[in-house]
Amino acid sequence: MITIILKPKKEESLLRFHPWVFSGAIQNIEGKPVEGELVEVLDNRRNFLAFGHFQIGSIAVRVVSFDKIEINQNFWNLRIEQAYLMRKSIGLVAENNNTYRLIHGEGDSLPGLIVDVYGDTAVMQAHSIGMHEIREKLAHAIVEKVPQVKNVYYKSESTLPFKAAIEPEDGYLIGHDTKSYIALENDLKFQVDWLLGQKTGFFIDQRENRSLLERYAKGKSVLNMFCYTGGFSVYAMRGGATLVHSVDSSAKAIELTDKNLELNYPGDTRHTAFAEDAFKYLNNLHTLEQQYDLIILDPPAFAKHRDALRNALKGYKRLNAKAFEQIKPGGIIFTFSCSQVVSKDQFRLAVFSAAAESKRNVRILHQLSQPADHPINIYHPEGEYLKGLVLWVE
Ligand code: SAH
Repeated sequence: MITIILKPKKEESLLRFHPWVFSGAIQNIEGKPVEGELVEVLDNRRNFLAFGHFQIGSIAVRVVSFDKIEINQNFWNLRIEQAYLMRKSIGLVAENNNTYRLIHGEGDSLPGLIVDVYGDTAVMQAHSIGMHEIREKLAHAIVEKVPQVKNVYYKSESTLPFKAAIEPEDGYLIGHDTKSYIALENDLKFQVDWLLGQKTGFFIDQRENRSLLERYAKGKSVLNMFCYTGGFSVYAMRGGATLVHSVDSSAKAIELTDKNLELNYPGDTRHTAFAEDAFKYLNNLHTLEQQYDLIILDPPAFAKHRDALRNALKGYKRLNAKAFEQIKPGGIIFTFSCSQVVSKDQFRLAVFSAAAESKRNVRILHQLSQPADHPINIYHPEGEYLKGLVLWVE
């Protein structure tokens, strides 16, 4: 196996179980690793530190094991099994809920791998070449260890580094298209299109936050901005909202929202979906009758990289300022950021500035995060990405 020797002192983060080796920490590579290859990482005195997947880039190694054990099919089976048993033990694998994230990268000690389960199909996304190379092994581990899963769809064309000398192809690694695209989340039905949808087809990470919204929806008029599949809208309907408006700039998203509303509340006239830009929509609300009691702001990641951070913060401020301007007195705002590079404090500061600009009295009711099936590895705080605030606006 190829060996990577670190510079003196650069082993410290690995001794604290942080799962990345940055290229700048490497003193010497013994041999010529190909991208995705399993390598051994040693400190300057040749003590064993970890095994990981090698990749060209600023993160040179993603650690898969801090133990000196054989990395074979059994190893992957065990990792998948541990992840599954955790979900099962906290009640996410249930009659009324067959939709959950099975593997959340570093959070499940499998850096570079995302797996979402929709009923009998697992949708797998590799974000590292190492995981791409072992996709077949992982797919077998999934069907072996997760009793409900019969099909594994691989969807990594857009998540792998495009410069790598590989040609990932999306498709079924195991099983086939079952056409049973209806996923159940807390008894609600959602049509999930993993072939054409964003990411793996559905944003499972908002499940708990959607449940909280349901509790607040009774008797309220609700505006669900950036609705995508209409998740928050369907929960608001169940919670007893008097009116629900869903907005997304993508016509395909609006089609999905309408379908999901029809699946759960056929013919219910409380809901309308609009294919429009969020800022334009909020700018065009002029009269008091057009104001809402409850607004959800769940935009896409405004910053995907650190250099986009400043503009992202401005974006969050501008968006939230619009909501503060428009919400009814005594209204509630659910506001989110899913940008990993934006910290909880930075996001809060952006929302705080927007509130101050509106000169309205605002209280924080809840501070929200990602759910338990998107766990954060305690040694890898970077894994915390979803941040939300529930605000009472006087
Ligand atoms: N709230 C959703 C997930 C939102 S994903 C859920 O619970 O599942 C972000 C969505 O924002 C995408 O569907 C995207 O089409 C939409 N979007 C991106 N830019 C937009 C804009 N300027 N105006 C309105 N929608 C936008």
